[in-house]
Amino acid sequence: MKLEFHGADQNVTGSCHLFEALGKKILIDCGLYQGGREMDEENSEPFGFDPADIDYLLLTHAHLDHCGRIPLLVKRGFTGEIISTAASFELARLVLMDSAKLQEDEARYKSKKASRHGKKETVEPLYDVVDTLNSFGYFGRSVQYKTPLTIAEGIQATFINAGHILGSASIVLEVADNGKKHSILFSGDLGYDDRAIIRNPSAPPHVDIVVMETTYGDRNHKTLNPTLDEFYTAISKTIDQGGNVIIPSFALERAQELLYFIREGIEQGRLPHYLVTTEKQPIQMINKELSIKKQGTKHPEIV
Ligand SMILES: [Zn+2]
Repeated sequence: MKLEFHGADQNVTGSCHLFEALGKKILIDCGLYQGGREMDEENSEPFGFDPADIDYLLLTHAHLDHCGRIPLLVKRGFTGEIISTAASFELARLVLMDSAKLQEDEARYKSKKASRHGKKETVEPLYDVVDTLNSFGYFGRSVQYKTPLTIAEGIQATFINAGHILGSASIVLEVADNGKKHSILFSGDLGYDDRAIIRNPSAPPHVDIVVMETTYGDRNHKTLNPTLDEFYTAISKTIDQGGNVIIPSFALERAQELLYFIREGIEQGRLPHYLVTTEKQPIQMINKELSIKKQGTKHPEIV
């Protein structure tokens, strides 16, 4: 067995881990580096492995820093199978199409800027909408939580609810090698208990090796009630002073939670009534989440 890290080391984005066992090459996530223009270079650099050699890509969840380089992986030769929960695939489609449009806009902007400086260079996007649509064809089996899936002979994957966003999972890989069993857990991003929309994360089984996110280091999250007090106070104070409240937020999950707690705050009289507007893209995400929710038992991760 061999494990390599091709992202999310020395920083917290661009998750991409390569696990090799029994002659199979398995990627866990293939995320985009995010965090300013300096990351553009990181994204366009070679992966550090040949995408054509990869047999499987297991996706923990649909945040861009975990799925955002999938179209690039396919563009560079990946022909394996992408395995995820059904909800992750549905959300990844939205996230990746949005990302492709942003990549195209960014490339157009850079080309225009270059031509203004008298240069005739055309900047190519990292990937475009066509690359992205192509990549959807490689999504294969979808998995249910806690249901082991034999992905190749001697290699089993079990997805466990990570309680982070809709469809998110930690992944346990079990390898039976010469009569010996080895197990490794990839935590993915982890949520916490008592969230508004998502079920609590499930406890993982005992494993030999754990590869886990440490985005927040050893800091503990504040509990929900003090956080909400702080949130409602900040909004009320700003409105009392005649100001406007602008909340930059991740479009997927965080925006939905914010809207949920703003509505709660209004209903409980802790916030004044006022108009909430969001950018178009989060609204699409919200509609998607709600439509997924309506499908009921198909996505058991929802409360
Ligand atoms: Zn995440």
